[in-house]
Amino acid sequence: MSVDIVIINADVQALDEARDSFSAVGIDDGKIAFLGSDKAAKKIANSKTRVIDARGRVVLPGFIDAHTHFAYMGVREGYLDLSDTASKHEALARIKKFALCKDAGQWVIGSGWDESHWSDSNEYMNKEELDAVAPDNPVLLRRVDGHLDCVNTRALKILNLPVDTVGYEVVDGEPTGVLKEDAVEAAAELLEPSADEFASGITAATKIAHRLGVTSIQDAQVDGRMLKAYRSLNQAGELNIRASLMLTTDYLDELATLGLGAGFGDDMLQLGPIKVFSDGSIGAGTAAISEPYLDNPRELGLLMWEKGDLERIVLKAHKSDIQLAVHAIGDRAIDLVLDCFERANSQQMKDLRHRIEHAEMLSDEQIARMKKLNIIASMQPNFVGQWGLAGGMYDHRLGRERTMRMNPFASVIENGVPLVFGSDCMPFDPLYGIHSAVNAPYPLQRISPEQALRAYTIGGAYASFEDAKKGTLEVGKLADLVMLDGNPFNEPQGIKDMSVEMTILDGKIVYEKS
Ligand SMILES: [Zn+2]
Repeated sequence: MSVDIVIINADVQALDEARDSFSAVGIDDGKIAFLGSDKAAKKIANSKTRVIDARGRVVLPGFIDAHTHFAYMGVREGYLDLSDTASKHEALARIKKFALCKDAGQWVIGSGWDESHWSDSNEYMNKEELDAVAPDNPVLLRRVDGHLDCVNTRALKILNLPVDTVGYEVVDGEPTGVLKEDAVEAAAELLEPSADEFASGITAATKIAHRLGVTSIQDAQVDGRMLKAYRSLNQAGELNIRASLMLTTDYLDELATLGLGAGFGDDMLQLGPIKVFSDGSIGAGTAAISEPYLDNPRELGLLMWEKGDLERIVLKAHKSDIQLAVHAIGDRAIDLVLDCFERANSQQMKDLRHRIEHAEMLSDEQIARMKKLNIIASMQPNFVGQWGLAGGMYDHRLGRERTMRMNPFASVIENGVPLVFGSDCMPFDPLYGIHSAVNAPYPLQRISPEQALRAYTIGGAYASFEDAKKGTLEVGKLADLVMLDGNPFNEPQGIKDMSVEMTILDGKIVYEKS
């Protein structure tokens, strides 16, 4: 045996059921060829083998983010972030600088601004102000809530929206450059990225992924243009991340007719489940819950479907052997989704690894129902870090009583429901997510480093039917690995401050900390 790479003097944690650990790993031809001792590893190294001394560092399977909006995240990398601007003056200065880096005529797109945080003015930016800082470029700047745009004269010309569009602001017969409601939606539609723009976005996002140790992603809402972008990169041999794609509900009938479903593709790119939305979010007050919101006592959120309609979708997918990933955040939505899965399984019991995405407000009873139906809990540990701490958004919207029972990762694992972690890009960072679950404030949420790491590795592989080929370190599996600069098992409180030393994808080093 000879190998391309050996990593010696390492703390290799396989994250398999047996909790195997080794001091060396050998990689050959994109696969894991050897796991064992340093002594044995040195024997299989020849003059062409790259020998890496890990100096005792932890080596794990590459992270699998099972719920991202990867292509969009990459496209947004090319946008201007105005979320931390302290004044209108600062925002306009940043727009000017950003526009100078663009060619004339190129769109300047920005987001995240919030006039209520500005010290010098609480007025929106008008088109004259934007014309002055970016005379040669169309400019569109989306407010932090996503419901309002400020645009300049060039942008208005290109968008060419009918003056009677709802939300198209006109004062004294002149458009002000402020767009709301329908006008925002119309602008968004016109600015939807092309397949080429998505391809550049995926490439940009891949660089971020490698730096954070992510070797596989599951893109949670994909349409034809995005699929085309992923496919063209893969065909050119330029897709440097393993991707599983969740097509939107619109494609269910076509997939059923064609007999396609999750797992179709190759080791780099494959179809995932069909994505279905059943409710909104806690942050927007639109997650469907059974007891009213604390800060809005008449509000129970909203369900996206009548029960009969959602049932038809679930039955159709189930009958066609198509895996589903259903977004359900509030307990009322989760109940509805479980009713539909129960109905489908009562007609014919099948193990299609259906998933509930987010499942934030999950009761013990619902966990028991998921176990019976073998439904995957596809959850976001970072949500606990973002919203679940004392005084956070959950407390504010739902009250402490309910906050303590949100995202109950420990109960999910205890009851034998497959737990799968992803980030939903808020933020895209597995170590932050793992830290949030390991250091979660409430007992129902808190899990061990090993459990959290498994949810971020083999969990995702199971959800995409790839657990036999990746997600743990075993001889014969794909050589996707990550080396950390810290030890999550020994220093669980410091996980979020750790970083990735090296990422290996398909047996090749794709990132090395300089
Ligand atoms: Zn999402």
